[in-house]
Amino acid sequence: MPRLDDKLWRDVMAYLRRHHAPICRQWFDELEPIALKSGLLRIRTTNSIQQNYLQKRCLEPFTEAAQSVTNALIAVRFDFGEDAKSEVDQEVTGMGLGGKSETNGALREGEEPAGERNGRAVPEALEIDLNDPVEPPTLSVRGDSRRLGEDGQPFDLQDDVVLNPDYTFGNFIVGPNNQMAYAASVAVANQPGDAYNPLFIHGGVGLGKTHLLQAICQTILTNKPDTRIVYVSCEAFMTQFIECVQRGQMLDFRHRYRYADMLVIDDIHFLANRERSQEEFFHTFNELYQARKQLVLSSDAAPSEIPHLEERLLSRFQWGLVTNVTKPHFETRVAILRAKAALRGLEIPDDVIAYLAGKIDSHARELEGAITSLMAYASLGNCDREINLALAAEALGEQINQPRSNHTTLQQIIDVITGYFSVKLSDLQSRRRHKSITEPRQLAMFLARKHTRFSLEEIGGHFGGRDHTTVMHSIKMVEERSGRDETFLKQLNLLEDRLQQSSGLGS
Ligand code: ADP
Ligand code: MG
Repeated sequence: MPRLDDKLWRDVMAYLRRHHAPICRQWFDELEPIALKSGLLRIRTTNSIQQNYLQKRCLEPFTEAAQSVTNALIAVRFDFGEDAKSEVDQEVTGMGLGGKSETNGALREGEEPAGERNGRAVPEALEIDLNDPVEPPTLSVRGDSRRLGEDGQPFDLQDDVVLNPDYTFGNFIVGPNNQMAYAASVAVANQPGDAYNPLFIHGGVGLGKTHLLQAICQTILTNKPDTRIVYVSCEAFMTQFIECVQRGQMLDFRHRYRYADMLVIDDIHFLANRERSQEEFFHTFNELYQARKQLVLSSDAAPSEIPHLEERLLSRFQWGLVTNVTKPHFETRVAILRAKAALRGLEIPDDVIAYLAGKIDSHARELEGAITSLMAYASLGNCDREINLALAAEALGEQINQPRSNHTTLQQIIDVITGYFSVKLSDLQSRRRHKSITEPRQLAMFLARKHTRFSLEEIGGHFGGRDHTTVMHSIKMVEERSGRDETFLKQLNLLEDRLQQSSGLGS
């Protein structure tokens, strides 16, 4: 078994930078290898948010790096706090290690069962759906991570949201477009339940709502680590509600939500038209509010603009502070680009930053996408290239110069897809993974990417708050299948024809 020394660690880091540049962050420098014993490389993180994030999001590349560098079947684990101190020797078998990401932990022999480590409760491993492999999970409760239902039985919590260590207040660039939302978020983080309750942040996709919501959570957890925060996407709230109704587990559901110290719901606009979920949320809201527990909500529209929102909910949303985020100005875009580059330890010359900020005038998510493509281009073909204007133009060219019709709108694509497959938009936006829904959803994403100027993130956002990688996956699936399945290709051509007709009519 290889020995853990400085060189080995440096090599692991270098491997990650070379092969997995997009995940690398400046704060990885703070990680510290603790031990390499019995095939397990243990790495200490500086806080539990990093630990959770790395364990859930980055285990696979770290495992790959450790295995490549040592040429041995090594597993990786991120530890923090008590775990990081304990020197318990844990036997690891090689079976299945290396490349199964989040399920790795479940495959280790000699380890305590999932859910328990060193006698302490830890969240369950997540299930991975291969059809939708990169769907972000949706729920997190910190503090006592193993909650009991009313009947004393553990309540299964599968969808652990992973707070992103990047989404802190320190990494948030304040500009005229988000000043108020930022100040209100900081106030709420410092005085939950007292400052503004509820805090309602609205604005278009990619403008920093989720970033602010997570920054609030991170600040509170740093100040008071045992705070029970329920952070959930609206969609997960509704799905869990429906499942609990069907399984007769409403007591558990209510227990989970109403005993929280703080409830954060991202993208609450999905409550539009959902009567029963609105009703349940109304009661949850009331109980928490009366107990002076903080509520934080985000939405793509102001409360009054969310369609078919019950009057009583609308008025409650307005009890606290309603504030919005808008598109960043040039100076703010420059600052965001600098911050995103710094997080990645990337040096980008000023003229390139200005070029990118000038070209991309939409939202911060696009800016981040530009930095990611720049990184990819800079290390293309295994040799580092200088980051300069030419490279930036090349990297952006991919985003900007793709032949796309000016006439097609997302609505036309949705109309064609929903008409052809007899599905509803809400199905496409839902978490449902039945083939009858995933196929039209993938086709819709593919067509949206091909015929509109929306970014992967925006498309993902529109189809149910999905990650850009999910959109990429969908595009790949459609491309692959149309290359080998003639019937599928005919269907795709038919959809394209219909789209062309409707675009022609619309222009
Ligand atoms: P939303 O939830 O509004 O769709 P996100 O919070 O997911 O948007 O933001 C998209 C990306 O843009 C994230 O990487 C986020 O960190 C970044 N971002 C948005 N606004 C800012 C900002 N003001 N400063 C730094 N990063 C930002
Ligand atoms: Mg968001």
